[in-house]
Amino acid sequence: MQVFKFGGASVKDADSIRNVAHIITKCKTGELLVVVSALGKTTNALTEVTQHFVDQTGQAFDLLEKVKTAHQQILTELFGVSHHPIFDDIANCFVEIEWILEEEPQDSYDYLHDQIVSTGEIVSSKILAAYCAHTGLPIKWIDARDYIFTDNTYREAEVDWQKTEDKIRRELPVLLDEQIIITQGFIGSTSENFTTTLGREGSDYSAAIFAACLQADDVTIWKDVPGVLNADPKWFNPTELIPELSYTDAIELTYYGATVIHPKTIKPLQNKKITLNVRSFVHPEEPGTLIRTTNNGLLIPSFIFKVNQVFVSIQPRDFSFIVEDNLSHIFNLFHRHRIKINMMHNSAISFCVSIDDTGANVEALLEELEKRYKVSVEKGLELITIRYFNQETIDRVLVNKKIIRELKDSYTCQLLVKDQ
Ligand code: ASP
Repeated sequence: MQVFKFGGASVKDADSIRNVAHIITKCKTGELLVVVSALGKTTNALTEVTQHFVDQTGQAFDLLEKVKTAHQQILTELFGVSHHPIFDDIANCFVEIEWILEEEPQDSYDYLHDQIVSTGEIVSSKILAAYCAHTGLPIKWIDARDYIFTDNTYREAEVDWQKTEDKIRRELPVLLDEQIIITQGFIGSTSENFTTTLGREGSDYSAAIFAACLQADDVTIWKDVPGVLNADPKWFNPTELIPELSYTDAIELTYYGATVIHPKTIKPLQNKKITLNVRSFVHPEEPGTLIRTTNNGLLIPSFIFKVNQVFVSIQPRDFSFIVEDNLSHIFNLFHRHRIKINMMHNSAISFCVSIDDTGANVEALLEELEKRYKVSVEKGLELITIRYFNQETIDRVLVNKKIIRELKDSYTCQLLVKDQ
């Protein structure tokens, strides 16, 4: 049994959707469950709708209209001007957002975000399912919210694995006997039936959840790159394809910020020994990268670049030691403001971190920290992580850069730098 996951870039327009249907037909070797993200940049667009709604700027309906038109155009290209039922089906999904927008915003931003933004995945999966069925494939569309159960941490929900696994194992194997299942990434539901999302780029994780619960043979994530590269081509040239990776190396790379796979994806697959394949939807005939149990260490060094970093140094006001009590208070604040630490270091009297400059929540965190500590902040930095580093690789990335902080262990070197 296989699981395929297609991200937003692989379904960004009508031709891409045709390509996905082609890949499903050509690359499927047996039973198949397909997880799909929202089309192209729909998640960002719906996030903007939510923000404008919450801020009551009066623009939320116009922004939604743009999203609807983009979907409408793709439908017309795929199905012509025929009266295929998918047209009404998609229109009705957007009406549900309109109902929300017609009221005053009463609920929290996070809750509203999940109710609105999840529609992106609902409509993309319906469009893909309708198109695949139209080409003659035996398709069963399912709502992932009936299978993936979570707590109510909106925008970053935690999966209730027991409940999820029970439901998936009870209902899906029999459907898979006869049909290809198409479902959504990124979304789940609470015990009260409210929609939740699993964190940005969470569709990879959804694919891993379905695969782990169904004990799939493998999962394939179809990307616009040839597989896992040793660096993001946006920042580094030339890059090399890594043909095989251990689960541990993959976890480490994603932990340090390699964006090719969502960090939560690997562990459930490793626990069930399910191979993860990262392949190109542009060249589906190419093998890509295999992530599985292997004794082959990663032979080539990998580079991860994170720009727009803020370096925060925190000291007790009375210059006393940083002790467990301070650290637990500090970590608690980071957690509450949903800020992930990319690099951390502590000495006797200070605790330093590098974090993404995500704007308002960082400012709110700093304000709270300043109530109890002496805080110094430096912005506009870059964090470079090299896995399997040597001096040559360090020299290579340090051209015209000044080191602010450097951390090394046996395999990984992190350099927080600024331009000289
Ligand atoms: N559509 C969601 C996002 O853009 C989830 C995903 O694509 O993985 O974050």
